[in-house]
Amino acid sequence: MGSDMDVAGYFRELDRALFMEGNSRYAGVDAAFPIGHGQTISQPSLVLEMTIMLDIRPGCKVLEIGTGSGYQTALLARFAGSVYTVERIEPLMTAARERLSRLGFSNIHYRLGDGSQGWEENAPYDRIMVTAAAHRIPPRLVDQLAPGGRMVIPVGRGMQTLTTVCKDMGGNVRIEGGIPVLFVDLVGDY
Ligand code: SAH
Repeated sequence: MGSDMDVAGYFRELDRALFMEGNSRYAGVDAAFPIGHGQTISQPSLVLEMTIMLDIRPGCKVLEIGTGSGYQTALLARFAGSVYTVERIEPLMTAARERLSRLGFSNIHYRLGDGSQGWEENAPYDRIMVTAAAHRIPPRLVDQLAPGGRMVIPVGRGMQTLTTVCKDMGGNVRIEGGIPVLFVDLVGDY
C-alpha cells in the first residue's frame, strides 16, 4: 500500500470527470481547469507528482490545505489513514464533500476556514499537502508537522517553486526546492 506504483494505479483508475462537472469533457486534458469561485482543479500530472513526493505511508495522518474540487483529497485519502482537509470557500467544500462521500470515503474530515493557520486541534500531522501558493512557508504549518513528517507546498510570488519541508525526529527542519509550478494564491497571512 502506498508505493509509487499503487499511487499511479489509483490515479489512472480515479475518474477526474467526477470532480469537474461543468468541464467534464476536458477531464482527460493534462491542464488545470476552472471549478468556479476563481479557483481551479489542478493539472493531473502535477497532482500525481505531488502525491508521490509526499510519500504517504500506511496509517499516515494527512493535513490538506485547499480542498478545491476534492480530486487531490481522493488520492490522499486512498493511501492515508486519515485526511484533514481545509477549504475557505463553502460551496467548493460542500461539493467536494458530496463527491468524496459518494466515492465511499469515510476517513476524510472537512473544515471551512483559513488553512494557512492549519488545523491545530488535530495536530500534529505526518504529512501536509498545500495546493495553493504561499509567498512564504506558513510557520503554523511547520509547527503542526510531526517529527519525521513531510510537507509539500508551492512557495513564491507569480511562478512558485514546489517545495518540500522535512522535519527530522529531533524537530530540525530542512527545506528543499523543486520544480517551478503555477497555483492559485493561498489567501491569508502568507
Ligand atoms: N487540489 C485542488 C486545488 C484547488 S485550487 C484541486 O485539484 O481541486 C486551491 C484551493 O485552495 C482553492 O479551492 C482555494 O479556495 C483554496 N484556498 C486558497 N487559500 C486558502 C486558505 N487560506 N485556506 C483554505 N483554502 C484556501
